[in-house]
Amino acid sequence: MSQDLFQAPDYYQLDELLSEEHILVRDAAREWVKREVSPIIEDAAQQAKFPTSIISGLAEIGAFGPYIPEEYGGAGLDQISYGLIMQEIERGDSGVRSTASVQSSLVMYPIWKYGNEEQKQKYLPKLASGEYLGCFGLTEPDHGSNPGGMVTNIKDMGDHYLLNGAKMWISNAPFADIAVVWAKNEEGRIKGLIVERGMEGFTTPETHNKWSLRASATGELIFDNVKIPKENILPNKDGLGAPLGCLDSARYGIAWGAIGAAMDCYDTALRYAKERIQFDKPIAATQLQQKKLAEMITEITKAQLLTWRLGTLRNDGKATSAQISMAKRNNVEMALTIAREARQVLGAMGITGEYSIMRHMMNLESVITYEGTHDIHLLITGLDITGLPAFK
Ligand SMILES: Cc1cc2nc3c(=O)[nH]c(=O)nc-3n(C[C@H](O)[C@H](O)[C@H](O)COP(=O)(O)OP(=O)(O)OC[C@H]3O[C@@H](n4cnc5c(N)ncnc54)[C@H](O)[C@@H]3O)c2cc1C
Repeated sequence: MSQDLFQAPDYYQLDELLSEEHILVRDAAREWVKREVSPIIEDAAQQAKFPTSIISGLAEIGAFGPYIPEEYGGAGLDQISYGLIMQEIERGDSGVRSTASVQSSLVMYPIWKYGNEEQKQKYLPKLASGEYLGCFGLTEPDHGSNPGGMVTNIKDMGDHYLLNGAKMWISNAPFADIAVVWAKNEEGRIKGLIVERGMEGFTTPETHNKWSLRASATGELIFDNVKIPKENILPNKDGLGAPLGCLDSARYGIAWGAIGAAMDCYDTALRYAKERIQFDKPIAATQLQQKKLAEMITEITKAQLLTWRLGTLRNDGKATSAQISMAKRNNVEMALTIAREARQVLGAMGITGEYSIMRHMMNLESVITYEGTHDIHLLITGLDITGLPAFK
């Protein structure tokens, strides 16, 4: 890949809305991405290999549990700092951001919010330091948008539970040390449980041949009469609301992350358009390319404002799930549209690994589907404003 010359756009001087701490945290993440992610990410994606070399760095910049209290090894930051870290990481690659999102919002968050003190002490510091990597098993082969229909189940055997079923499309599955898994008990109630690698009957085959998120490992979780100790059940919340609470936190991070991918595509296209000469002038001097670039910066700026406001609402504990859905949906579509337009600005060069745009574009095809599809988030907004569910 060409040298990373990224310069972040801030068209509405939004840095003025950030605290000194926000800027410090963001700049540390930005520098780390330039130093450690940009030089290796294209190769990792081409080879479809998760770059394990970045795990310790993700821990150091606070990407594993940014808002988890320091007593459990987290960074103890607010929601804006969390968002900014996700933005910077996804500026590098959505797959790397996915690893951080899963670890923080889908593994550490449920243990922190729904776990008991022993579970928090046992797992959170190791997850925060990157000694353990986790994954989150909600989606099943026959239950994607409708996770409430899940068939993975636990049976109470007296001194332990017996877990059976399968999860699919699970980020980090092939190498995760632990999995936070959602399964129905005999009463049909959804419970969260911690499954550890090495438990008999638990396997995690990798999903191959993805054209998207190639630097992030995806796999299945298969449970064949796995004995789960009773102390591995998350005791403090059950029902579908428990996994959905985790998804709120992850979707919020995605809303910020998508801005990072969009900023990278815009910045690359702007620089290229000013340098690329056709018909004796830079293509940036043509009205058609200016239209593309002007629309990109407009959409990025709108997304930045939407997301910053959502962060302040989350800091005050006032953001609703529907508000988070709106931001996730808007920003991912915005980023994907910008990636597609930016790709065209680069002409043939845009399809090569010399530039990050095509990788972002392919990655965003997953991001627009996972953590609730583009359609489902629209239907959540529809439900919120009409009070009438159109999807169930
Ligand atoms: C790379 C990757 C990583 C992932 N990581 C994880 C992970 O770590 N953990 C995890 O649990 N899951 C993960 N997922 C799964 C992801 O969350 C699901 O793919 C997603 O929820 C959609 O489910 P589905 O693919 O089964 O699609 P479906 O639910 O089958 O949907 C197919 C299409 O139908 C539409 N549709 C569905 N229902 C309705 C309706 N009622 N009205 C209108 N349209 C509808 C959808 O919008 C979509 O367009 C990952 C997926 C990918 C691609």
